[in-house]
Amino acid sequence: MTIAFVGIGANLASPQAQVLAAFDELASLPRTHLTGRSSLYRSAPVGHLGQPDFVNAVARLDTGLAPQALLQALQAIEKAHGRVRSFRDAPRTLDLDFLLYGDERIAAPELTVPHPRMHERAFVLMPLLEIDPGAHIPGRGAVQALLAACAAQSVERLAA
Ligand code: ADP
Ligand code: MG
Repeated sequence: MTIAFVGIGANLASPQAQVLAAFDELASLPRTHLTGRSSLYRSAPVGHLGQPDFVNAVARLDTGLAPQALLQALQAIEKAHGRVRSFRDAPRTLDLDFLLYGDERIAAPELTVPHPRMHERAFVLMPLLEIDPGAHIPGRGAVQALLAACAAQSVERLAA
């Protein structure tokens, strides 16, 4: 079993409900246990502005799935939530980002792990730190220090 982290984001169609449903679907994946779920956070969009705020969270999994199988499973969940791939940073009903897979570094055409932008995104680092205070991103460093460098980004923890 490998410890993996998944970033969850949604900004359309009841985003809080989408994120909560995603936790349940991750918990139902084969050979996988959901071993941590962060609070929900609200963040302003990055990249393509002028779209609704996002609701974000991070899940911790213990999984026997290989990385490619986990990516396919995440994409199947996105699809079931009605996601249409239009352009990078477009609004989405559900976005599942494959953040970490143990200490592994993966550079395949369809999968880069650690996720190549996670280290500079407070909406990923804050929930990750909540569920794993000692978290470390291979090649990037301690999440706590990386988050301190993102202090300008506004991310607000939602009431439980
Ligand atoms: P974004 O979330 O950056 O707007 P998408 O979710 O639409 O973009 O992009 C997903 C694409 O990125 C897929 O084609 C997938 O194969 C690729 N990809 C590469 N690395 C990862 C990763 N760590 N997590 C999720 N998708 C990844
Ligand atoms: Mg994505």
